[in-house]
Amino acid sequence: MTTWRTDPHLAGRFHPQYPDDLQVMVHDGEPRRTKLAPEACWVRVTGVAGALYMPIAAPDASPPISQSAVRWDQRTVYQGTLLNAPHNLRTIRQNDTVAFVFAPGLPHPVLVTSEYGGERRNWCITPCNGCGADQTLDPMTTMARTRFPDTPAGTAPLAFSALCPCGGTMMLALVGQ
Ligand SMILES: [Zn+2]
Repeated sequence: MTTWRTDPHLAGRFHPQYPDDLQVMVHDGEPRRTKLAPEACWVRVTGVAGALYMPIAAPDASPPISQSAVRWDQRTVYQGTLLNAPHNLRTIRQNDTVAFVFAPGLPHPVLVTSEYGGERRNWCITPCNGCGADQTLDPMTTMARTRFPDTPAGTAPLAFSALCPCGGTMMLALVGQ
């Protein structure tokens, strides 16, 4: 199955001669934490890795968002082989298997880790008011530690805002248990 070739989110992104190759934004996490910029690298898609589950809060919900106040969206997670070597990144190498999702607002689909996917389902992200981005580069608890380094372990904030590279702002809110 080559479902990625017909995914409307990925339409027009594949190389004209290599119908499974597209550019993905690969990264080591938030540049604010890692001091390393994301890089666009070619990836040869090999399959579907699963789905990214994303809770969406009602506009008037206040954190912690209750489970009953969210609706669910999901996005296909694809996997593939990294064809070229990133210039500066430390966590991924040429020929590694990487997972990625389509991400509005970003120039390319973006690399996601299993840790990221595990946290993304616990956080509502109000898309960036500048570009509409609804994904981040670090898991949300890692982002919280970057922003609030003095907070005791295990006491992440219920909600916080994050600057988007485009200059806009996204709001992140924890879904309560
Ligand atoms: Zn943005």
